[in-house]
Order: sequence, then structure tokens, then C-alpha cells
Amino acid sequence: MARKVLVFGEVKEGSLRNVSFEAIAAGKTIAEGGEVVGVLVGDAVAQLADHFFHYGADRVVVVEHEKLNHYTSDGYSQALLAVVNEEKPEGIVFGHTSLGKDLSPKLASKLDAGLISDAISVEAVGGNIVFTRPIYSGKAFEKKIVTSGIIFATIRPNNITPLVKDEAHTGEVTTIAVDIKDLRTIIKEVVRKTSEGVDLTEAKVVIAGGRGLKSADGFKPLQELADVLGGAVGASRGACDAGYCDYSLQIGQTGKVVTPDLYIAVGISGAIQHLAGMSNSKVIVAINKDPEANIFNIADYGIVGDLFEVLPILIEEMKSLKV
Ligand code: FAD
Repeated sequence: MARKVLVFGEVKEGSLRNVSFEAIAAGKTIAEGGEVVGVLVGDAVAQLADHFFHYGADRVVVVEHEKLNHYTSDGYSQALLAVVNEEKPEGIVFGHTSLGKDLSPKLASKLDAGLISDAISVEAVGGNIVFTRPIYSGKAFEKKIVTSGIIFATIRPNNITPLVKDEAHTGEVTTIAVDIKDLRTIIKEVVRKTSEGVDLTEAKVVIAGGRGLKSADGFKPLQELADVLGGAVGASRGACDAGYCDYSLQIGQTGKVVTPDLYIAVGISGAIQHLAGMSNSKVIVAINKDPEANIFNIADYGIVGDLFEVLPILIEEMKSLKV
């Protein structure tokens, strides 16, 4: 059954986030040959439509308004509701990001639709769209289908492969005018808390540090290794609680969920709450001086040793491989 599917394009610092391209691929599966429509919401975002087309969108809908220059759930839900009313889709896909987690339930409730959140795969099986999502902090997986109404889902970053980029692919851009009213919050300024660089939730390589690093200075080599590998630095809650790094780096049950190609855990014991945020990483490397540390139970490669001796060697080796 061919469906029309809307894919929300998440804009960050003037660019579409990668997860939006992954969402297009998910949208294609849900559409089963129907139309996949990218949706851009903001103030002056129309110029990003080409990026959506390059990754497979058939059409792009743009909603621009000066009150949409910063994200607010009030403003964006009004904009998206206008798009849904106009387009009448059978499917909607968001990235499972902070913004997606905030906005998608609000929109789903306004549409009286169900929501499958945090899907890591989408398949078309015998007329059904089957979503797989982790449960019990990633210890098990469940498969879900939507039996009536709009097929509305959020997808976890780094799990669904985007279509191959085709810069020749283009399409029609439609503009929808909305009257944004009654914003209960107005964002005056956004102050960046973490450093510049690769977004932790979308990074292909994550170097995460734990309490074993002993201090904020102990974290510095992690950034050096991340820079060499083009990755991002993360942390255990133990390290955040100890004040070695900012809580925005925390990975785990009460932190961020990451699924990089390579996760290097440095001085992290592997508590269940930490594993909940990284156990689906494709390759896990652990460095720990305790051979009994739980992190080794899920690691693909383990280095038993003092991290302060191992890290400098690893950084030098990686640098020499890059030259
Ligand atoms: P530790 O457990 O203290 O481990 C430090 C490790 O470093 C040890 O294995 C040690 O052998 C190793 N080490 C020490 N020195 C060296 C050295 N020189 N060389 C090599 N290795 C060394 N935790 C999270 O991470 N994320 C969460 O989201 C999270 N949510 C939680 C939610 C709840 C409700 C609760 C109760 C807990 C949560 N926790 C979370 C905390 C979690 O239970 C652990 O306390 C925490 O993950 C431990 O952090 P750690 O591994 O850095 O520290």
C-alpha cells in the first residue's frame, strides 16, 4: 500500500542533522512506493530543501515564520499541525533527538495518533510496517506495528542507513503559510554549553571517560583521541558526578543514548545504567585496569592496563596511522 509520509527535518546551526536523512530512508520504507515529503520549519530554512532532495525526498514543504527562529514546542507543533492538515499524511517520521522527543508526543496527542518512539529499524513485511525498538534499557527488543491511524515514529540516530546521496536529485518545494500565536515561551538567546565539534548523539566514534580518569585534566587526552578519530567525547555519570566534565556528556539510562560505529570506554566500570546508553554501539573497546570490570563483558576488544599508560600510546598509534 503506497503511503504519503512526512519527514521532519531537524535544523541545527543552519544545517540539517544527519538523523533527518536517516528519517528519509525510514520514510521510504513506510511509504512503500508512495511520496516522501521533507518538512522544514523555522525562519529562513527553505535553502536547506536541496539537502533533503539529495537524500531522497520527493517533495519538500517549508513553513517559515519569524516566531519559529528558535525551537519551541508551542510554535513548532502549530506549524506541523498546519502541514499535517494540508498534506494529510499516512506516516510521520522524526529523529529520536531531544527536540524529537519533546515535539513528537505533543503532535501525536493533537492528532490522536499512536507513537512508536526510538525505533532502531523499520521493515515492510506483508503490508505491515514493523518497527524494532529497544526495551528494558536495551536488554531486549520488541517489534511493533501500527494497526490504525497515522504511522508515527521517531528513529534513533545512527541506526538506519541514509540513501546514497544524489546531488542531481531534485523536486518541488511547497510553502505553507501559518499564523503562529500564543507562544507561552519565547527563547531570547541560546548559550552553547558544550564545546564545538561532533554532536555526541550522532558521532560515529565516541571516546567516553569514567571515574578512572581521576580529574578534569585526566579528560584532556580523550579530546585529543577524539580529534584524531573525528569523534566526540562522552562520560559516565560517575565522571560527571565527580565534577570531571559537564553533565551534557553523560551517557546512559539518565543521559544520552549513543550508537556509534566505535565506542572506547576509558576507566568506566560498566554499570548497567551506563550500558543502557551505549550497549548497541557497533564495536566496543574497553580500557580498564580491573580485568573483572563488567565493561569487559560487552566489549569486543579489551585492554587491561593503566589508562594513563595506555592512552598516550593509543593516541600516538592513531596519529601515525592517519599520517
Ligand atoms: P566506577 O564504577 O567508579 O568505575 C571506575 C572504573 O575505572 C573502575 O572499573 C576502575 O577499575 C577503573 N579505573 C580506575 N583507575 C584506572 C586506571 N588508572 N586505569 C584504568 N582503569 C581504571 N551511570 C552512567 O554512566 N550513566 C547513567 O545514565 C546513569 N544513570 C543512573 C541512574 C540511576 C537511577 C542510578 C542509581 C545510577 C545511574 N548511573 C549512571 C550510575 C552508575 O550506577 C555507576 O555508578 C556509574 O556508571 C559509575 O561510573 P564509572 O564507571 O565512571 O565509575
